Amino acid sequence: MDELRAQVAQACRVIGGLGLTKAATGHISARVPGTNTILIRARGPDEMGVRYTNPDDVIAVDMDGKKLDGREGLEAPQEVFIHTWLYKKRPELASVVHAHPATVVLFTIVNKPLLPIYGAYDPSSLKLLAEGIPTYPRSITVSNDKLGEEFANSFPGRACLMRGHGITTCGESVQEAALTAIKLNELAEMNYRAQLLGDPQPIPDDEIAHITGGMKKSSNKRSAPLWRYYCSLVGEK
Ligand SMILES: [Zn+2]
Repeated sequence: MDELRAQVAQACRVIGGLGLTKAATGHISARVPGTNTILIRARGPDEMGVRYTNPDDVIAVDMDGKKLDGREGLEAPQEVFIHTWLYKKRPELASVVHAHPATVVLFTIVNKPLLPIYGAYDPSSLKLLAEGIPTYPRSITVSNDKLGEEFANSFPGRACLMRGHGITTCGESVQEAALTAIKLNELAEMNYRAQLLGDPQPIPDDEIAHITGGMKKSSNKRSAPLWRYYCSLVGEK
């Protein structure tokens, strides 16, 4: 459990260090395998913000979002229900990332879609888009069971935009969920820059199919070098 807590804390520092979070907002969680316990970055007067998360900023909660253990001065985030309901609905999930990356949120504010504007430049983020990235249409805080269930029902894949709010990504490991958040942010950054420069043109469907069709499902082993790269980029050992 300590190892998993360290992984959650490190992933928080990486997405914070890469600028995917706004100040202290956002949280990453992991399901403790074979249990109904979730480890999640906590909020409260003693926290340091996502970018500076230590393992003891990660507390244990149950599937109702109630704190089971963790140091004083920290509580489950108000939006713990994003996490609990995704885990309840989807037994295969091991980790959930919720963040507020500005560039992605801008696309939800102006109601412009993220377009498949590149191919070989970054196949994995193109694949993410080809799978479908829904937008949860409400800008509210997902702060109770009813909203948590509604949100989880609207989100069948690996990544979701939340209008005027942020993103949620998930996966079968902490590393996978965090890399999906990073890829989603890159997709939005490139779309944003292309919009500034001119009139972005989607690449043809057959090229999208060509690039994404043969891609293997990501695994920790395959994505380990990329994860190490992002960790090093933000000064992680
Ligand atoms: Zn939020």
